[in-house]
Amino acid sequence: MAFKSEYLQKVYDKVCSRNKGEEEFLQAVREVLESFEPVVEKRPDIVEAGIIDRIVEPERFIQFRVSWVDDNGKVQVNRGFRVQFNSAIGPYKGGLRLHPTVCASVIKFLGFEQIFKNSLTGLPIGGGKGGSDFDPKGKSDGEIMRFCQSFMTELSKHIGADTDVPAGDIGVGAREIGYMFGQYKRLRNEFTGVLTGKGLSYGGSLARTEATGYGLCYFTEEMLNSMKNDSFKGKTVVISGSGNVAIYATQKATQLGGKVVALSDSNGYIYDPNGINLDVVKQIKEVERGRIKEYCDRVQGATYTEGCKGIWTIKCDIALPCATQNELDGESADALINNGVMAVAEGANMPSTPEAVEKFQAAGVLFGPAKAANAGGVATSALEMSQNSERLSWTFEEVDAKLKNIMVNIFHNSYNASKDFGVEGNLVAGANIAGFLKVADAMMWQGISY
Ligand code: NDP
Repeated sequence: MAFKSEYLQKVYDKVCSRNKGEEEFLQAVREVLESFEPVVEKRPDIVEAGIIDRIVEPERFIQFRVSWVDDNGKVQVNRGFRVQFNSAIGPYKGGLRLHPTVCASVIKFLGFEQIFKNSLTGLPIGGGKGGSDFDPKGKSDGEIMRFCQSFMTELSKHIGADTDVPAGDIGVGAREIGYMFGQYKRLRNEFTGVLTGKGLSYGGSLARTEATGYGLCYFTEEMLNSMKNDSFKGKTVVISGSGNVAIYATQKATQLGGKVVALSDSNGYIYDPNGINLDVVKQIKEVERGRIKEYCDRVQGATYTEGCKGIWTIKCDIALPCATQNELDGESADALINNGVMAVAEGANMPSTPEAVEKFQAAGVLFGPAKAANAGGVATSALEMSQNSERLSWTFEEVDAKLKNIMVNIFHNSYNASKDFGVEGNLVAGANIAGFLKVADAMMWQGISY
């Protein structure tokens, strides 16, 4: 579909011609630019200053070779990336993803989204993202360490506590952050808060592990409360994935009175009508690094189905996609709607296809987009940066209370922006606009140099 604004169409056409074949990046840019139709009408000064032309082009994109030696003594070569997309409101900030699907398009889509997400948190952090096509699955600890050290040997030249502060994402948890932090310190002889998601014994923040999943539920609870006068209490919840975000979303949704009945991994999904036993999931995924299907060997009454898409055919009130991009398509959205889903909030980045989002909005399903709903992770990473700068650590309760407050504010800022720009209740547009305006303002103040 063409843009209504000729100007936005021109910007998008240029992005398409400059980034040919980068489907995920183009999808993310298109979704954001679509939200800007009312902005270009109301704010000609932003158009005049070329802010939108500039924001779709990364400030810097780094690609590098990562060579390492496997347990058989064989040399392996992967490709590493870091995109430093926008530093108007603070140092670049965004996770590192280790997954075989990582490529320039995926990193740029994630980095672009990160600009608006980070701005929405209200904290001073710019947008960045990175990673590698390295597949951590099935690798030994030694292989993971050697890969992380080699990756950081190059990355260390481009990052720093006041420049660019990476964190975890898919395939990067406390273990990988530890190896990378150790290598950075070794190379630079500096103990600084250059990474977040660190272990508690060397500068990590309490509640960072839980933050994205907890934040997602705080956001969803506020959305239910403000828009439907409702809550998690008594609701059936389906959550995809079984990694960091899914696990802690399950924990908080359960604490808030919901019953989580399904989780998945990239092979299939489990259904437990009695409510997921999270201790069992944590043992399998966090301790043994096993597969989700093992849950059914340990919990009576639970069933496993091969293939992950079927998870969306399970009847539920609230759906929280927490696995990966484009995991929930139009057909899955139809299944959820036909089963009476009332709210969908995205824990993963861009898990719903544009067709799915359209269907949810047309059916009046409450829809919390990723850059608002999953911003709790990066918000708490920024709180980790504050603690590192102060050389102090806050209690779990302090961090959790700040996180909750941030998520409630993100909901209201997104909602209010949707209202101010004539699309009340459309949180996709509201989140994009609210995130954008702050960055745009900072870019205007700083002049045109890049
Ligand atoms: P993890 O690596 O901890 O977990 C990812 C989970 O998703 C794994 O269980 C993985 O299964 C599963 N998965 C991957 N692909 C599919 C698929 N096609 N269908 C079903 N399950 C799948 O990553 P995180 O939990 O950290 O990240 C999940 C999502 O949340 C990502 O989109 C990430 O960008 C986003 N996010 C994460 C944040 C964080 O703080 N960690 C912050 C904000 C967003 P398998 O083991 O089989 O690969």
